[in-house]
Amino acid sequence: MSLVFFMASPKINPEAKYLRQEKLGEGTYATVFKGKSRVNGDIVALKEIHLDPEEGAPSTAIREISLMKELKHTNIVRLLDVIHTESKLMLVFEFMDQDLKKYMDTTARSRHGALDTATVKSFMFQLIKGIAYCHENRVLHRDLKPQNLLINKRGELKLGDFGLARAFGIPVNTFSNEVVTLWYRAPDVLLGSRMYSTSIDIWSAGCIMAEMYTGRPLFPGTTNEDQLQRIFRMMGTPTEQTWPGVTQLSEYKPPHVIYPQQNISQILPTIDACGLDLLTHMLQYQPEARISAVAALKHSYFAEVNRYNTY
Ligand code: AMP
Repeated sequence: MSLVFFMASPKINPEAKYLRQEKLGEGTYATVFKGKSRVNGDIVALKEIHLDPEEGAPSTAIREISLMKELKHTNIVRLLDVIHTESKLMLVFEFMDQDLKKYMDTTARSRHGALDTATVKSFMFQLIKGIAYCHENRVLHRDLKPQNLLINKRGELKLGDFGLARAFGIPVNTFSNEVVTLWYRAPDVLLGSRMYSTSIDIWSAGCIMAEMYTGRPLFPGTTNEDQLQRIFRMMGTPTEQTWPGVTQLSEYKPPHVIYPQQNISQILPTIDACGLDLLTHMLQYQPEARISAVAALKHSYFAEVNRYNTY
């Protein structure tokens, strides 16, 4: 597999193919620049992955990334090209106007970052379509958050960074030493489960849905412990009754306080009954009980979107 990849992507100077323009942002693994193809003038996003100078690009990462090139869907940011040199790995993506976090911070500022219901529904439908496509292709995202959901002026939402977590692992800090956010991380992962399944992306999507409605992160934890406490305070402290097997997870500690379950609708005043039902099915403690992406697309919350869309 990696042999095919190297043959398809000879080591060439990235500057020969793309003109590097302004910096767009920094992510978990990379610095992102705007770029322009010297071949056809297309505007792209150039993601420069920071490699360990000693080790270069690990072959497992190269393999994962070559699989990402095959993911082609309207709701996945297209990986157009991969350029691998001695010191750099540069991923060339389709260009998007901004990310959902910046959109909520700026466009929706007059509403304190909250989006209107029609926009939430459209973005959620597109987010779950992208997740469903990846899950059908047996790829997990593992690190969904508003910063890596990209949007363009046509109102399209696309998932970025799919597969990178698998290729590089999720570090504690980014290369620029920012803390990687825990806010969207599923409780099973926080409690040490290593049985990663598609359900971890559904949990993240549920947290993002709530945040779009309120403009505020649902569980803005600062440490692993604090993240779990915030989840427990809202959803109730899990027990063997509410989550069979929870006490067996490696990071599980017997609780000092048992919190009762809160009604999530209290903090989401603008959500309707259908939206609340879908959200509740996404934010289930037991990973197996969380709704799948394909089932979520058929939920009545999306009834009117489904009339105009196929997936
Ligand atoms: P990421 O590493 O994907 O988290 O990227 C860091 C930041 O760079 C994002 O939050 C975006 O603001 C920007 N960015 C990433 N990918 C793109 C893209 N394809 N088009 C435009 N901006 C991007």
